Amino acid sequence: MTGYSATALDVGGVIYYDEPFELAWLQGTFERLCATDPGMTLGTFTEQVDRHYSGDEILTRSEEAAESWMRVRGAWSELAQEIPGAVRAIAELSRETRTVIVANQPPECAGVLSAWGVGAACEAVFLDSLVGVAKPDPALLGMALDHLGLPPADLLVVGNRVDHDVLPALGLGCAVAFVMEDAGYRRPSGVHPDLDRAYRAIRSSRPVPTEGERVTIIPSLAELSTRV
Ligand SMILES: [Mg+2]
Repeated sequence: MTGYSATALDVGGVIYYDEPFELAWLQGTFERLCATDPGMTLGTFTEQVDRHYSGDEILTRSEEAAESWMRVRGAWSELAQEIPGAVRAIAELSRETRTVIVANQPPECAGVLSAWGVGAACEAVFLDSLVGVAKPDPALLGMALDHLGLPPADLLVVGNRVDHDVLPALGLGCAVAFVMEDAGYRRPSGVHPDLDRAYRAIRSSRPVPTEGERVTIIPSLAELSTRV
């Protein structure tokens, strides 16, 4: 199917959409900031969101954002939206190759994977929040390789970020299938449409790797599972 003995799957942007969690977090942060600062507007907040995703991560330093994140974690299973065909693709992949999960996700992710039958289809799940090592540290992927007991060249890493997935995989000697962005998520209830629009505009251009001998670009996990 993939030509590799094993597959390491990322979760956000591969199995489920990241955006519903991020949008719910942003909305909750905005509402908390409005409660403490009467001068806060969606325009001011959008500027902060822009700065946050441009790299200064301004929002992660605020108490309001931390509180909002705890609420999002509590609603993880309700917010999780499968990227179409991903769960079925994992069932098919796991029949053909040894499959593991390697992802930066909160512990609540494990409950969703289990409820969707993904946990049972995979041989092991390595989440940064549970094992104490996070991407882009290649040690997280290294744990999966140690578990599999395979040389890196036998493992195909499937992910959606150049910094978190492609570079660590190539650095260790693994091949990568890079999943293109799919903007087909549904805006979670309670999220202001203008916030969704601003977020989509800010996040519209994310780095894509150059295809090569060890880098393939695929539209979705579902597409990967149909390859022969
Ligand atoms: Mg991801």
